[in-house]
Amino acid sequence: MRKISIAIFAFMLFAGVLSAQESREYTKQYGVYSDEWAKEVIGFMADEKFNGREAGTKENYKIMKFIAKEFKKMGLKPEIQKITSESLTAAIGEPRKGKVYPAKMNNVIARIEGKNPNMQVVVGAHYDHLGNKPGIGIHPGADDNASGIVALLSLAKMMVASGITPEYTVVFCAWDGEEKGLLGSKYFVADWYANRTAADSICRYMNFDMVGRCDDPAKPTTTFAWNDNFPSLKEDCDLVYETIDKPFTVIYDRRVGDGKGGSDYAPFSKNNIPFVAWMEESLHEDYHKPGDVPAKICWERLHKTVLLAYGILYRWVD
Ligand SMILES: [Zn+2]
Repeated sequence: MRKISIAIFAFMLFAGVLSAQESREYTKQYGVYSDEWAKEVIGFMADEKFNGREAGTKENYKIMKFIAKEFKKMGLKPEIQKITSESLTAAIGEPRKGKVYPAKMNNVIARIEGKNPNMQVVVGAHYDHLGNKPGIGIHPGADDNASGIVALLSLAKMMVASGITPEYTVVFCAWDGEEKGLLGSKYFVADWYANRTAADSICRYMNFDMVGRCDDPAKPTTTFAWNDNFPSLKEDCDLVYETIDKPFTVIYDRRVGDGKGGSDYAPFSKNNIPFVAWMEESLHEDYHKPGDVPAKICWERLHKTVLLAYGILYRWVD
């Protein structure tokens, strides 16, 4: 009896050490993230020549091309999901009273094929913003949501650098039309449900929106919202948090899969898909204002949010 229990104990110890090592493999890709590159991307997207990248404009189209090119540089093959006002109406219904859909929008989608290609983990962030409003001016949208695009592209880079074949296909999506009512993500979800086979499943969704600002730059803080119908989502966050240099604070914002929320996780939440949404610490004074500029980004907060998110994504698919 005693020998057996020692053997079991030894095995448990061995297995414990093994899983502890495995669960930290993802920290090897932490060095892939670059503050300098993040500054370049946010500076580029927020430049006034892109006139606030409103959905349906030629400047927004140029940003879409830029994101596709960034995916190509990583060796991925981005697809453009074209959305017309007609296809959008067919997928999600008529616009709200007094609103019109842009004639053309585009989601940019890049995949890393997994061992189970029908099972998908989707990661998304919107690239459109509010444009140039008469009497107000250009909305640069450095935080909203060039910061989220940096996170999305960084996760793709890090996942490619890991060299793993993920368990599930990872689908990286840059959404259009978020500021006009989550149009790009709503279209993607509706289209996916309309065309899925019995074998298809979206196992997880991760969203980034406004992940670049801090109330106090000396105390980098991020907000983690999750669908608590799936408590393991928060457990993953707690485990990966151990690997991030402090100071770094996470504000937990418990949600359930009821479709409530003001960003692109809502269409996934509406279908009770397990989701994690990274968002603002608090709604800052420059929210949806011309003052949302690169100079006010807290680079440390963005950096640490990306590392934490990557660790969680890796745990989902390894
Ligand atoms: Zn936004």
